[in-house]
Amino acid sequence: MVMLRGFTNRKAPLQMAVQTCPACHSGGLHDYPESRRTGRLNFRCRSCGLVGWRQRDEIAPVETVGLETISVEQREAWFQLKRDGVTTAAWAETLDRLRSLIPASVGAPLIYDIGAGDGGFLDFARSRGFDVGGNELLEAAIEIARSTFDIELDLGDLSTLDLPAEHDAVTLWCVLAHVPDPDQLLDECHALLKPGGVLFLQTPYRCTLDAMALGAFRASDGRVSRWVDRRIAQHHWLLHTRRSMTAALERAGFVDVRVKPQARYSLQAAPYLASLGLRGRKGEVVSKGVDRLLDKGLAPRIVLDVYARKAAE
Ligand SMILES: [Zn+2]
Repeated sequence: MVMLRGFTNRKAPLQMAVQTCPACHSGGLHDYPESRRTGRLNFRCRSCGLVGWRQRDEIAPVETVGLETISVEQREAWFQLKRDGVTTAAWAETLDRLRSLIPASVGAPLIYDIGAGDGGFLDFARSRGFDVGGNELLEAAIEIARSTFDIELDLGDLSTLDLPAEHDAVTLWCVLAHVPDPDQLLDECHALLKPGGVLFLQTPYRCTLDAMALGAFRASDGRVSRWVDRRIAQHHWLLHTRRSMTAALERAGFVDVRVKPQARYSLQAAPYLASLGLRGRKGEVVSKGVDRLLDKGLAPRIVLDVYARKAAE
């Protein structure tokens, strides 16, 4: 895990600090105490419940990464670590659902995967009758998609690619919470879809465990911070709720928004979590049991599965 350095200038005004809720645009943000481990400042929106990182200027900008920074070998090793059966099951479930939401008259629906990684999901989609496209910021990932799956991804951020509004579906697997400007990304997704087209996205969910951990974090004045520091971090700086996700999508022009929390545990984590008895001894569970889970790299992926539609003309 990459540790973030303390913020030596954190007392200075932050130009890019979040002032209004990134999801519902309310100004009613409630601050948590500073994390004693990382110095990070988090907020909670009083209106929609979104939790996030106040210091948006610390979020990595959206830009391409060349082979001199991340090599094909490094990226391949990372993909091998990440791959597991949980992911494939989620892909299958999602593609079945997308197919059911796209008119049967569309023979081979065209899907565009944003932040497509090594192309594994698109390869799976193609095997299920979809035509596929996608983009990636990492040149190494594009090389891997080409050599492994014969899939040609677009290199670069959507704002730099001039793509037509011709897609039946657009997918984002844990991309939305990475980008500094989620509003812009949702607008770009909307622009990629044909009228009536379907968006699917998966993004971290502010679940019961998070609420418990944030309670312990506040009560300890930022000392019990490991769970919070892990869940709200550089690569996922927002934890959405049903309300926050719905507000953001409707503002971007989407209709028929459906939001469903999913707990996707790795196979080793499921029995371990069950043995913790998550209902009782809340503080103890969060500060000890879940920390042990994190140390073993078995953190549950607690996410929202979100479907929404671009209005038909
Ligand atoms: Zn909000």
